[in-house]
Amino acid sequence: MKNLIFSGMQPTGALHLGNYLGALKQWVGLQDQHNCVFCIVDYHAMTIPYEPKDMAGRICELALDWLAAGIDPEKSTVFIQSHVPEHTELAWIFNTITPLGELERMTQFKEKSEQHKQNVNAGLFTYPILQAADILLYKANLVPVGEDQVQHVELTRDIARKFNKTFGGMFPEAKPLLTKTARIMSLADPAKKMSKSLSEKHYVALTDDENTVRKKVRAAVTDTKGGAKSPGVMNLFAILEALDETIVKGFEAEQKKGTLKYSDLKDVVANTIISHLKPFQERRRELGKERGKIAKILIDGADRARKIAQATMQEVREKIGVQ
Ligand code: ATP
Ligand code: MG
Repeated sequence: MKNLIFSGMQPTGALHLGNYLGALKQWVGLQDQHNCVFCIVDYHAMTIPYEPKDMAGRICELALDWLAAGIDPEKSTVFIQSHVPEHTELAWIFNTITPLGELERMTQFKEKSEQHKQNVNAGLFTYPILQAADILLYKANLVPVGEDQVQHVELTRDIARKFNKTFGGMFPEAKPLLTKTARIMSLADPAKKMSKSLSEKHYVALTDDENTVRKKVRAAVTDTKGGAKSPGVMNLFAILEALDETIVKGFEAEQKKGTLKYSDLKDVVANTIISHLKPFQERRRELGKERGKIAKILIDGADRARKIAQATMQEVREKIGVQ
């Protein structure tokens, strides 16, 4: 069956291994079988402090990451959220049917308000409502995301149900689609997930050069806790397994015997990451020479997305009695 797939990423910084292994890698595979819509969610990125003059550049970098990873604009619709104003229009309508209590439960809101104590804005709080609008405008039934976004996709399902019940059925109940490595942890603090908006030492960016990758992986926290794998070591195993299942088996055996040397593990993790990033970075460099082409891809994508979004909004307006 052909599914309607929607997912997005924020232009908040360099993409990292978590974004790739948790989401982007599976987006690439889904494109051949399904209708895919991939959105650069710039309005979401405004919920944390940012420099307006940097936004356009970040959007372009994110588009480059996607294309270099294998997102194909011939197969998928790729566009910028703010180019399709129906996203914010539908979000307003969903605002009126979303209970405050549901938003207060959201882990991302709690974490980001903790990180940005000086700027706990209403947009950060209603972020999942805009995300529900992103997904449901395209009537997507599958949302390939990392584990941290599952709670938001579940809220999207509640919003769809509530809308359908109140105004009449029109939205599917979207489900999250996870990979085996749906949660990569920070290298410097394995209790936190790897995030773009944490500082450099926490993540390996897809654009990091060889030396940077080695330095960051060598510095990864790996303290042992009574013989069992510590969260930091489990994280290195998860990264290795996602990139190369065969290598990880030998290390598993050593870990069980108690002969595993973390420095050896780190060297192999770093080498494996470097060899995986190499072809990606080469493609990225080539694509980076044609920025005009990227702008055109995003404009064409928005034209396609807008047609679907406008049709959905027409239907919504009829249902809610606003003509
Ligand atoms: P930010 O810190 O700005 O929120 P982020 O790294 O969380 O950045 P997002 O743009 O919010 O990135 O999320 C993009 C996608 O990457 C989402 O599907 C999200 O679930 C996934 N993702 C983010 N971090 C991880 C991670 N550490 N492991 C697996 N998937 C992740
Ligand atoms: Mg995030």
